[in-house]
Amino acid sequence: MTDKLVSQLQSHVPNIDLKLISQGAEALVFETTTHPYSSSPSLRNASQFIIKYRPPKPYRHPKIDAQITKQRTSGEAKFMYKLSKLAIPCPSLISCDFSHGIIWMEHLGKNLPNGNISSLKNWLWYLEKSSDTEARCSGDDVQQLCFEVGKLIGRLHLNDMIHGDLTSSNIILEEQDSVWAPALIDFGLSSFSGLPEDKAVDLYVLERAVDSTHSDFAQSYNAWILQGYEAAHELKRFKKFGKKKHLETIKRLEEVRLRGRKRSMLG
Ligand code: AMP
Repeated sequence: MTDKLVSQLQSHVPNIDLKLISQGAEALVFETTTHPYSSSPSLRNASQFIIKYRPPKPYRHPKIDAQITKQRTSGEAKFMYKLSKLAIPCPSLISCDFSHGIIWMEHLGKNLPNGNISSLKNWLWYLEKSSDTEARCSGDDVQQLCFEVGKLIGRLHLNDMIHGDLTSSNIILEEQDSVWAPALIDFGLSSFSGLPEDKAVDLYVLERAVDSTHSDFAQSYNAWILQGYEAAHELKRFKKFGKKKHLETIKRLEEVRLRGRKRSMLG
């Protein structure tokens, strides 16, 4: 089945190397060393790129399927374009084919010593499995990193942009001056909204993902993320408006948590 999907993609982007790195219900993600149009050797050979491919869904009516693929692919690309305009870290767009569900983008991150990509999840897992776990996971650099993640989400929300699927896997770490800097990926469920409810749910989804993926240290990680989130709203240029927005969202987050608890009690 996967081979068939890979051949489908190859028919749209012939003669390029593809390495499948992730397969979800919605899309397949490939690494490639090929740039679609640059003749610069540094771009062609030295870098790696990502191709995200939404294959046709055989269970949907072909016309509706084509529409959905086009909408979701263009929606994701537009969201990424807006993020780059705002200088919010995310992969740069290289090329898109909306009708065939293809987005070609910059490959973020690098491989950790254990060979895994430097997502927030993999990095925290790497530290959590290290010999001096307690010291490393409670250290200043992890605190600073979580704070930066919170600031990043704060900047997103201050622009009324909702990620829709915040998890520690969808945050990739880039090395900048020997320090990790977070960037966002996967905007398949993203949307635009100024509502505190939508922002609170976005935060809640991440909080729950951190709880389940990093259970031993989740409380500290989540607290540091929220501190960074608040700091993003406290920048002078937002004046009282930033603080008000932050308060509204955090108040709503408490309600969302309560709803979540009730729901899990009901099973
Ligand atoms: P997605 O379906 O967009 O969540 O991507 C699935 C996985 O592919 C992610 O969890 C990442 O490990 C990897 N990935 C996707 N896009 C990128 C990117 N631009 N740079 C590096 N890794 C990526």
